[in-house]
Parts: sequence; C-alpha cells; structure tokens
Amino acid sequence: SDPLLEISDLHVDFNTYDGRSKVINGVDLHVDEGETVAIVGESGCGKSVTAETIMSMLPQPPGEITGGELRYRGEELLGDPPAHKRVKAESMGMIFQDPMTSLSPVFTVGEMMRDVLTYNGKTEVGWLELGKSVLGRRGADEKAMRERSIELLDRLQIPDPEGVLDRYPVELSGGMRQRVLIAMALLGEPEFLIADEPTTALDVTVQDQLIELLREQIDREGLSMLYITHNLGVARRIADRIYVMYAGEIAEVGTRDEILDEPLHPYSRGLIDSIPKLTAFQREGIDGLLPDYTEPPQGCRFHPRCPAAMDGVCDGEKPPLYEPADGHQVACYLYDDQMNAQDALEVAQT
Ligand code: SF4
Ligand code: MG
Repeated sequence: SDPLLEISDLHVDFNTYDGRSKVINGVDLHVDEGETVAIVGESGCGKSVTAETIMSMLPQPPGEITGGELRYRGEELLGDPPAHKRVKAESMGMIFQDPMTSLSPVFTVGEMMRDVLTYNGKTEVGWLELGKSVLGRRGADEKAMRERSIELLDRLQIPDPEGVLDRYPVELSGGMRQRVLIAMALLGEPEFLIADEPTTALDVTVQDQLIELLREQIDREGLSMLYITHNLGVARRIADRIYVMYAGEIAEVGTRDEILDEPLHPYSRGLIDSIPKLTAFQREGIDGLLPDYTEPPQGCRFHPRCPAAMDGVCDGEKPPLYEPADGHQVACYLYDDQMNAQDALEVAQT
C-alpha cells in the first residue's frame, strides 16, 4: 500500500550572501500509516528544512525547492500550494521547537487554543465558518472550544487545566509550555504529526515524561509522526524507523534496532559512538564540521570526515542507497557488491 507521506528526490537550495547552498540534495523519505519515523542528524544537516518543506513553512526566499515530489495519501503537494494548505489544515499538526518563541507572550493559553480551533475550523459542534458565526451559536461554540481545550490539557496531564487556560505562557514552566504546545498540535485532530526537537530545551526527566506522553497520544489516536532530533536516545524511545541524515542527504535508513544496534554507515557509527556527548550543548561527537553547502564535497559529502574514505571512489559520484538487508539502506560505497567484501568488513569492524 502507498505510504501516508512520501518525499522523492527532494532538492532545496538557499540563496545566501556566500552563494547558492544545496542544503537538501536528493532526499527520499516516507512515513507509513501508524508509523513513527525519526530523522536524526547534527544541527544544520537539513532535518528542519525537510520538516518546513512538508509543512509548507519553508521561507521562500531565501529557500527554494528546486526539485522533487511530496505526496500525501498519493496527492502531489509541492506544485500545488492550495492543496498543500488544505492537507496541512485537515491532516497535519506540528509541535514546534522552542516553547518560549513559539507561544505568544500576549495571549493566554485559552485564547491561543481557541485560535487554533477557530482557524482550523473545527469544533466539537461542527465546522465553524470563520467570521460568519452567528451570535446565537457563538456561545455554544465558545463553550465547546473551551471544553475541548480542557480535555486536551487534561490528556497531557496538565494540572488544573481550567486555570491554565487563563494563564500566560510566561507563567508556566518549560515542561508545561511544551505540553500546551503538544495539546495545541492535537486540537485540530491531525492524523500526521511533525515534531522538530520539541524536548531539546528541557531537562532529561521532563524530556522523558514528554516523550512518554507523546507516545501515549500517538498510540491512542493511531497517529503517524515524523520526529526530528539530534538525540539518538530520544529516537530510540519514540521511533519505529530512523533516517540518519548528513549534510542534506540520507546516509542510512532502517528500523530503530537496525540503526541503533547495527549501524552500517561510518557516520551513523560515529554518531552512536558519541551518544554521551550528544547533548543540546555539545554536539561535536565526530571530528570535523558539516561541509560548506555552497561548495559541498564531491561524491560522498561525508568523505572529508570519514575514517573509511577510499580515494578515487568516495570523492567521485554521490553514493547510491545500497540495501544490504531488506529495508535497511545505506548510502556508502563500502556496501557496493563490486567492492572487495573483505575490505568492507574490515573497515566496518574498526
Ligand atoms: Fe565513507 Fe566512502 Fe562510505 Fe562516504 S562512501 S561514508 S566516504 S566509506
Ligand atoms: Mg533544527
């Protein structure tokens, strides 16, 4: 059956003062119905740009989608902005990255939740036509929206949900604000959620609680999710499948256990070896830096940092995705059958 969401050969450029940056260079990705998929990679690898493209939130300019397809339930959206907006409003919810910047300081939680319900057009009592709601029905709608908001805050285990509706975000803790953001994402009854590092700013205990709560909501509603993180520990707790992204390309994809327990790509291996160092404040688990996107390395974009790089091979063409095990794919010449299998094995064991 068709995947719920499918990206094929996506290319996104950014026009900067330094030139044209190819920040997404041929990404393929899909999310099946009921599946939670993580994109894992360092800051700046293109994972947020991928999310913004899916949510039709890419700033254009400076961003520019130069190729590829994005299908949702088989419908192509990249060339059809009205369809993209409709599908986003009807089916997608987004959990934002930073609680402090994504909640308005001047509106109460209740006002913001009412806005989400109003602009999404959905209430418990049916579809609201924005600006046309007659006085007699407005009361009923307001009440229904308030009840729906309370129900969701309650599901996110926010104490005193009714009181919280009248609070301003600044009056809540970081963890509570993030719960409000999850509740807001669920208000529109999405079937597909995108979360971009929603727990990064929080301490580990609060982070764990939030992931637990999010997992519960996903299971309860049978939702599908794309979860973006630099933190492999988080990916282990939430994802069914993981895409490892490096410098705007997919390095490896597999089930959670394949990626975390049997990583194949030298970059994935480096990431996993550096788990303890992968915190919000220190991400330098692997020697070297992400490449300059205006002049990315030829061939495998990882080759300047790769301990297994092969001269004359890895700096030639971009490696295709090899599939050494069913569904487990890796963009690395070590897994080319034409290569000396013994060499590949030795490299892989180092
Ligand atoms: Fe390293 Fe070459 Fe594989 Fe790239 S293709 S990850 S440079 S071995
Ligand atoms: Mg980001």
